[in-house]
Amino acid sequence: MMITDRTINEKRTLFIGAHCDDIVISSAVTISKKPENSYVITISDGSLDLDVYPIIEAGKIFYTSQEWAKERLKEDLRAMRHLGLDLENYSNFHIKDQRFYENISQIVGGIDHVIREKNIGQLVTHEFPQPHPDHEIACIASHIAAKINDIPVYEYSMYTMDGNGDFFFRSFDDDVSKEIYSHKITSVESVLKLKALKAYETQPFWVEQGMKKMEESFSKVDRDVTVLTDSLPYIEDIKTISPMEVRNILEKYLRGMMQK
Ligand SMILES: [Zn+2]
Repeated sequence: MMITDRTINEKRTLFIGAHCDDIVISSAVTISKKPENSYVITISDGSLDLDVYPIIEAGKIFYTSQEWAKERLKEDLRAMRHLGLDLENYSNFHIKDQRFYENISQIVGGIDHVIREKNIGQLVTHEFPQPHPDHEIACIASHIAAKINDIPVYEYSMYTMDGNGDFFFRSFDDDVSKEIYSHKITSVESVLKLKALKAYETQPFWVEQGMKKMEESFSKVDRDVTVLTDSLPYIEDIKTISPMEVRNILEKYLRGMMQK
């Protein structure tokens, strides 16, 4: 396995995160080194379709999922600005948290659209498996969109839970990793990462967890999407679809979007 300390985004790279803050936790320093080559998709708008409102965080009160989503998006954009990202290179897909499984075609379609519109050379996404279904669907959707466009996928290591319910960052699986970019965050870079994480004022827990990850690594992985989805009961609709069929669904979906 080859391990390098070069910057992964020496070519146009699309970073995909399920939720606001996933990309900053995994890739903040990498983006800040080459923001001109970095593109970001946050799939979720952070809102929950559950009876959890009002939410009180950071001294503010949010009565509806719309108010909450607006705040989460504001935080995400603020963090991206700290990293030097041109906001033209940022997209939010406005999917609700924990509702990704109902919107897989839209997610694949959105990623495919950004790849083609921005002429993206490679994707960076969540690793697999993950304790959070949204992270797994983000990973699977990224691999499908990458296959359709014939570009490589890198995965970042994310937190997972140990037997005691404590979070830790796993190292990559030697069996699937082909090539790894790995960078130890310097003290100067950690100041920037903390500043970007602190943009997520309503997420103090994840700020703390994110600062435990003092390395940014990306592992090149070529996954068989059918094998990936075999163990997932929540993904009935893509289990049996080939990449070409996904492309057809997408084209219909995109035509529908353009007619609106
Ligand atoms: Zn997440």
